[in-house]
Amino acid sequence: MDKTDGVKKKSLSSRRFILRKNVAKFSLYNIPLKTLPLGTSTFEYVLDRKFFEAIDGEEVRKGNVSVTVNVKRTSSMFEFNFDVNGVVQVPCTRCLDDMNQEINTRNRLVVKFGKEYSEESDEIVIIPEEEGAINIAWFLYEFIALAIPIKHVHPAGECNRVVSSKFRKHRAVSPDDEEEDDEETIEEDFVNEEESQSHDPRWDALKGLDLEEN
Ligand SMILES: [Zn+2]
Repeated sequence: MDKTDGVKKKSLSSRRFILRKNVAKFSLYNIPLKTLPLGTSTFEYVLDRKFFEAIDGEEVRKGNVSVTVNVKRTSSMFEFNFDVNGVVQVPCTRCLDDMNQEINTRNRLVVKFGKEYSEESDEIVIIPEEEGAINIAWFLYEFIALAIPIKHVHPAGECNRVVSSKFRKHRAVSPDDEEEDDEETIEEDFVNEEESQSHDPRWDALKGLDLEEN
């Protein structure tokens, strides 16, 4: 979880090219540009578990997200406005169990015709005129992945207790501590531990344990 935003974006963008080679699977997300009338056209999608499984991204495997795409065609370009709302299930950054993450994001993309496919910036894409269409499946995935906060955790008290209690054992609490360090305290310790991580061997032990469970 030490990726910076910049790094994350870069690796995501490169995936667009990979996806473009496999667009048949995502023909529903093909927007035909050549035949689009001047003015605004609207496209609606619901991205469900099937979509996330097919797209096979690293960050999100499950979810239910509604997307409205307004495409405004002018004489020189296509302006896409995406309204993306729903919920995805992603591993909690504290306990690694799945949690619901709400997604509400708006994104913009400008598409122009040109000689060959290129991305002039995060918001401007050139599509070969003879291709005449853009597949937005990966863009939709990317908008969702980028809308997930780097640190996303269960509401207080809802993290996986098994992990919390194993963690407590690692801390070698004295036996008569038994019942029950109230959970709030445990979680606070947990968070502090996470933030001050560095090279505490107890933290490494916990990492190993997380891997086994996935
Ligand atoms: Zn959690």
